[in-house]
Amino acid sequence: MLTVDKMQVKGLRVFVRVDFNVPLKGGVIRDDNRIVAAVPTIKELMKKGARVILVSHLGKIKHKDAPELVEEAKKKNDLAPIAVRLSELLAKPVKFVPVTRGEELEKAVASLADGEVLLMQNTRYEVGEEKNDPELSEIWANLADAYVMDAFGSAHRAHSSTYGVPEILKSEGKPVACGFLVEKEIANLNRCVHVSEKDRPYIAVLGGLKVSDKIKVIGALLDKCDKILIGGAMAFTFLKAQGKKTGLSPVEDDQLDFARDCLAKAKGRIILPVDTVIGDAFLPEERKTVQVVSVNEVPDGFEGLDIGPETDKLFAGQISKAKMLFWNGPMGVFEQSEFQKGTISICKAVKALDGKAFTVCGGGDSAAAIKQFGYDKDFSHVSTGGGASLEMIENDGHLPGIDILN
Ligand code: ADP
Ligand code: MG
Repeated sequence: MLTVDKMQVKGLRVFVRVDFNVPLKGGVIRDDNRIVAAVPTIKELMKKGARVILVSHLGKIKHKDAPELVEEAKKKNDLAPIAVRLSELLAKPVKFVPVTRGEELEKAVASLADGEVLLMQNTRYEVGEEKNDPELSEIWANLADAYVMDAFGSAHRAHSSTYGVPEILKSEGKPVACGFLVEKEIANLNRCVHVSEKDRPYIAVLGGLKVSDKIKVIGALLDKCDKILIGGAMAFTFLKAQGKKTGLSPVEDDQLDFARDCLAKAKGRIILPVDTVIGDAFLPEERKTVQVVSVNEVPDGFEGLDIGPETDKLFAGQISKAKMLFWNGPMGVFEQSEFQKGTISICKAVKALDGKAFTVCGGGDSAAAIKQFGYDKDFSHVSTGGGASLEMIENDGHLPGIDILN
C-alpha cells in the first residue's frame, strides 16, 4: 500500500479524507483531538506542494426527515468552525468552502496554489455520501488527481468519500494512498489480528453494553486469544447463561444460546466476574445503595453496575501474564463515580505491565474512559476508530476503506 510519505504530489490536487467528526456544541469544538491527529498528514502534503482538498463527515444528517429538520441538522453539523481551528493548528490559512458540489467548489479548487489547503463542507450534506452514490463519487473524483485516506474511524464504511472516490481514481491510474494516522492504526491493529507466538499469552478484555453488538468480535477473539476477560453489562448475559441469579442486571435473553456456545467453545478460556457492585435501578442518584455482592446473589430489584474488588484482582492477575492485550468496552458505568473502579483497575493492571506487553484499546467509550482517568499514555496504542477497530478484528484485518487502497 502506498503511504503519503512516498507519494509524489507536487502540483497535484489531492482529495484527502480526514476524520473531523469532533464533538461540537453550539459551534464550539469541545475536543479537537481528531483535528490535531490529522495535522501530520496535512503538513506532509503541504510540504510536498500538493493542492490539498480536505473532506470529512460530521455528525448525522437524516435525509429522510422533513426538510426543516434536515436544514436544522445541517446547521448543527456545519464544518466551518473546524476550518478556523485547523488554520490555527497549521498556522496557515485554510479556505472553507460551504458547499459540497458546484461552481463555488470547483473555482476554489482551481484557485488553490501548490501547498495550499481548503476544507469542503460536511460530506453528509449529500444524500448520496452514505449510499456510495456513483454520480456523487464521480463529481468528487473529477476534482482530484490523487487520493489520501486518513480517516481510520470511517474506514469500515464504504461511502462515496471513503470508497467511491478512490475506486474511480485508482481505475484512472491515479495514485491512492493512506495517511500517517491510518498507517499507524493498520500496523498496530494487524498485530492483534495476525498473532505471532512472541505475543502470547494474548488476552482480550471485553465489556460495555451489548453482546449483540459485539457477537462477531467475541467469535473472532475466541479464535485468536488465549484468554478473554468479560466485564461490563455484557458479562451478565454470560453469567445468566451459566445459571447465575443476575437480578435486574442487563441481560440479553435472545443471546443466551450464543453465550452458552461461546462458553462451551472456550473450554475455560472465558473468565467472568465473581462479584459485582450493585445499585438500585429505581432509586434516584443520591439515595442509590451501592454494595458489593457475589455474581450469584444479585438481589431482586438490583442490577450489577461494575465489577467488584475480587474480580478486579482476578482480572489483574490474568493481565499481569499478558504479552499482548486488546481491550474494548468499560467494565462498568464509568460515567458515574461509584461505578468507575473496575474500569480504573484494568487501567492500573495495564500500567503495571510497564511497557513489557503490547497493549491496545479500541472503542469510543473505552478510549474516552482511559483518557478521563489519565492512563492513555500507558497503552501502546489507543485506536481512534471504535467501530473500525472492532470490524478490523472481526474481518481478519480487512476494511473496505483500506482494501480499496491496495
Ligand atoms: P465502546 O464504545 O468502548 O465500544 P460500549 O459502547 O459497548 O463501549 O459500552 C459503553 C457503555 O457501557 C458505557 O456507557 C457504560 O456506562 C456502559 N456499561 C458498562 N457496564 C455496564 C453495566 N454493568 N450496566 C449498564 N451499563 C454498563
Ligand atoms: Mg460506545
